[in-house]
Amino acid sequence: MRKGKIHRRSVEYNLTEHCNLRCRGCGHASPLLPEKFASLAAFRADLEALAEAFHSDELRIVGGEPLLHPQLLDFLREARRINVADRIVLYTNGVLLYKASVELWQLVDEISYGQKTESADKPVS
Ligand code: SF4
Repeated sequence: MRKGKIHRRSVEYNLTEHCNLRCRGCGHASPLLPEKFASLAAFRADLEALAEAFHSDELRIVGGEPLLHPQLLDFLREARRINVADRIVLYTNGVLLYKASVELWQLVDEISYGQKTESADKPVS
């Protein structure tokens, strides 16, 4: 407990189940899963409910591949507003980072991409 709330080092939220890579041994089974995007309304409701009793050092935005989500910036803005964690870390395979806007870089505290591409095969989209 910290300041009257449950405290953990991190909490994760999956923005997509699918991915634009097909890594062997993917721990998320993403190469086998159909396209599926998280709902912004559900994310908002989940984080607002969680933030009443919980706080973590990091909110990890994960997938699948979260950069595939067309509303990614809206998710990050809501995460900032709700403030369930001290830091926002985006976990990505990095393939689409060249398209990332300045605002995306401003909304996250860290982008983690190194480990995921070590065993990556060719992109599928
Ligand atoms: S990049 Fe990550 S999520 Fe995508 S297939 Fe590879 S291990 Fe799975």
